[in-house]
Amino acid sequence: MTLNRRDFLKVSGAGVAITLTGCSSQPSSGKSASMAKPHVVVVGAGFGGATCAKYIRQWGPNVDVTLIEPNDKFVSCPLSNWVLAGMKNLDFITHGYDNLPKHGIKMVKDYVTGIDVEKRVVTTKGGAKISYDRLVLAPGVEILADSVKGFKEAEAAGKVVHAWKAGPQTALLRKQLEAMPDGGTFVMSVPTAPYRCPPGPYERACLVASYFKQAKPKSKIILLDGNPDVASKPALFKGAWSELYAGMIDYRPNNAPFAVDGNTMTVSTEFDQVKGDVLNVVPKQRAGEVCDLAGARNDSNKAWCTVNLATFESTTAPNVHILGDSVLSNLPKSGHMATNHAKVCAAAIVELLAGRQPDPMPVVANTCYSAVSDSTAGYVANVFRFEAGKGYVTQPGGGATPKGDELNFTYAESWAQNIWADMLS
Ligand SMILES: Cc1cc2nc3c(=O)[nH]c(=O)nc-3n(C[C@H](O)[C@H](O)[C@H](O)COP(=O)(O)OP(=O)(O)OC[C@H]3O[C@@H](n4cnc5c(N)ncnc54)[C@H](O)[C@@H]3O)c2cc1C
Repeated sequence: MTLNRRDFLKVSGAGVAITLTGCSSQPSSGKSASMAKPHVVVVGAGFGGATCAKYIRQWGPNVDVTLIEPNDKFVSCPLSNWVLAGMKNLDFITHGYDNLPKHGIKMVKDYVTGIDVEKRVVTTKGGAKISYDRLVLAPGVEILADSVKGFKEAEAAGKVVHAWKAGPQTALLRKQLEAMPDGGTFVMSVPTAPYRCPPGPYERACLVASYFKQAKPKSKIILLDGNPDVASKPALFKGAWSELYAGMIDYRPNNAPFAVDGNTMTVSTEFDQVKGDVLNVVPKQRAGEVCDLAGARNDSNKAWCTVNLATFESTTAPNVHILGDSVLSNLPKSGHMATNHAKVCAAAIVELLAGRQPDPMPVVANTCYSAVSDSTAGYVANVFRFEAGKGYVTQPGGGATPKGDELNFTYAESWAQNIWADMLS
């Protein structure tokens, strides 16, 4: 039998009512267990969390959803490099959460500080205790500031930033670049993989070079990469460096910083000690702190979360699903991918709450545009299907553009507008 969407929602609603015995005994709505709807709590309203909350409500209208996020507004990392280059301002990449309650999502402005996996309760900084039937953690990454000696002090003094979470640090780095004299040096580092947004650092180098070419043409960029080679779209970026920015970008692979000094404005690696006028050090990362509260930062380095990739349920914390950058997998850590995790997870949760089997072979896609100048961009795009025992297998087709062009630059901006609308409108 095939189900159309209307039938699916009817069955979904009925199924949810039947499986109430599986719900937590303390529904946050205060209704008695027999009356209560299943309750999903989502932590983090970024790409993964906001999308997951919205799609659970769309596909499972009988499921209550609470979304917990400390920030008033979402600031997008995609296109934040455009802000650094003066191509857009911070307002352009900042979006409110006003539309999410219209989907029936309960927004809670708070920060999760505790998780009791057995009792299925999260605790917040503001003192709330919220019960759940299923919990979704989508906290993005934790920046390991201590992994680079002196970074914390230099960051606290406002001298060196990572700007790897868009917001105030993006604005500060832009100001530092604007204040840099012509002929100055911008030193930037790339952490060893895995890290958030593999092409992001190389796009940043291109766009800062594009800005320098117009505003401070005697300036230089030193790019210290912890990886042995450009970790994503190498043809696109290396082509741009030689064709558009010849002599401007000094690329040094296998050169991760271990120390930074904000007073002498020096970065130290195993091989080099380089001075700069503006330093942009991006330390190593791991899954967001909240994953550790659930005991879900469980790979061999206790850095990332392993999940059942068909449902995104943690392999160690039952009823806890993890999305986006925090997940360990062969899939790229991108906003686009986080929204795809979110949809697979939302569908799986609706099925599980209705007592049915989730799709055993979900499909996800990734599209990532990178601008290489203020008018040209390239992309990488791939489709992956989950196969038990293998994980996500890349499907035929897809690939990356070897060179940026103007049409893809317009697509890059449309992509951002569309994905922001998908998650937040
Ligand atoms: C410079 C740069 C450029 C990028 N460009 C692109 C691009 O072009 N395309 C692309 O697809 N991706 C891009 N990315 C990657 C993209 O930003 C990330 O992959 C994406 O943000 C991951 O989504 P997420 O949901 O895992 O985390 P996030 O979007 O970071 O959301 C996490 C949310 O969780 C909240 N949170 C954390 N802890 C708690 C807690 N304890 N309680 C409550 N809330 C909490 C945070 O406040 C945050 O709002 C870029 C990244 C960077 C840095």
